[in-house]
Amino acid sequence: MANSNRICIIGGGVIGASIGFHLSEAGCSNITIVERTNIACGASGRSGGFLAKNWRSGVEGKFSESSFLAHSELAKRLKNEFSIDVMYRRLTTYNISVSETPDKKSSIKQTNDNQSLPKWITADIREKEILGNEDTTAQVHPGLLTNALVKVIENRGGRVIIGKANGFLFETITTHTEKDEHHQTSPIRAIKLLIENQEPIEADIFVLAMGPWTYQAAPWFRDAMIFKENISHQLDIISGVKAHSIVFKGNQPTEPYAFFLSYRSNDGNILDPEVYPRSNGDIYVCGFSEQHTQNLSDSGNSVPIDENSCERLRQIAMQIASTLKDSNVEIKQACYLPQSHDGIPIIGRLHGLNNVYVAAGHSCWGILNSLATGAQLTQLILKGEISPYLKQCDPGRFFRHTSHK
Ligand SMILES: Cc1cc2nc3c(=O)[nH]c(=O)nc-3n(C[C@H](O)[C@H](O)[C@H](O)COP(=O)(O)OP(=O)(O)OC[C@H]3O[C@@H](n4cnc5c(N)ncnc54)[C@H](O)[C@@H]3O)c2cc1C
Repeated sequence: MANSNRICIIGGGVIGASIGFHLSEAGCSNITIVERTNIACGASGRSGGFLAKNWRSGVEGKFSESSFLAHSELAKRLKNEFSIDVMYRRLTTYNISVSETPDKKSSIKQTNDNQSLPKWITADIREKEILGNEDTTAQVHPGLLTNALVKVIENRGGRVIIGKANGFLFETITTHTEKDEHHQTSPIRAIKLLIENQEPIEADIFVLAMGPWTYQAAPWFRDAMIFKENISHQLDIISGVKAHSIVFKGNQPTEPYAFFLSYRSNDGNILDPEVYPRSNGDIYVCGFSEQHTQNLSDSGNSVPIDENSCERLRQIAMQIASTLKDSNVEIKQACYLPQSHDGIPIIGRLHGLNNVYVAAGHSCWGILNSLATGAQLTQLILKGEISPYLKQCDPGRFFRHTSHK
């Protein structure tokens, strides 16, 4: 059913793209995505795209499971209806233990399955454990997925504006009396999004999906609000965790496997890089998460790259698969995992505001959980329905009560 709401989504990562896609599925065509740099310039274009059905428990587990199943359906629809291939496929997933210097004496190959690893895995494996099979693990190309979702939104009448959002204009609704669960009325609504060097955008509903940069929206609420401290704090709890990745391009083994490593380095540390062959012949390798920070680069395209981290990933990958010794690393990159203070994403309406929503902080599962996030936030925005997992993710848990005199 057609919905005439004007929707403005800030952030063109997989979360913003999925929210826009699901709103467009529900009949909204007046959708604007405001993206500072380019679609999928952050983690959404640089991550592994690994998907697991049942690696979490409780309501989060159900949420992830629904997202996992939705990826499979969506990939089919994108191919059939829009001729877009997002390189989705099911995988067998292993944890493998490897030492930088193999100790022949303790080199006992242990296994919890009867399968052998593909021949191109040439490292001396100390232990291997199957973590998932083709019913429970899969992969998608995250950048292709994000761009595909945006293409569908545009096909249905939506648009992308490249520009840096930097504030809101608000109005106060004098007749509003409805109270949220924190017993606060929400008489304030955003009416325009301010964009650096461009005309503001008017909308009925705004969604902040700025990934690790979401904390940068906190000051937008500080001057205009009666609950100013409280509103900002719901966003200030997001930060970024930098991680590196490299891609060996083309002509590599394409079998549908994923490998999580327990890599004992010569200095005694256990490292945990991940190795994902892709169906186009690329091999993606990532690892080395750093500390939380709110000191992020301005753009997803300018995250400083540490050559040593990339070289370390290359050496480990070459030990796992000796054929990689003859291959060049064509992509070296870094990006930020979006992280909240308590490790749970913030997804929902900002408390103290009438029409501003947020979806951020998906950490290392943003590609997997993007589809359930888009679907369930759409239900909340259009119908006011809140799912059990969104209850946990309510940004209001960071809403601070202060006295306003
Ligand atoms: C190395 C690595 C590997 C990963 N592997 C996996 C995996 O295998 N499976 C999985 O499920 N997840 C994985 N993740 C996590 C996943 O990539 C992220 O959770 C997800 O991409 C976050 O999406 P997002 O849209 O919230 O943020 P982002 O992708 O960071 O997008 C935010 C967007 O907002 C834009 N923006 C910011 N500020 C503004 C502004 N002021 N105005 C306009 N636009 C703005 C940015 O330019 C950016 O494009 C991985 C992450 C990393 C770092």
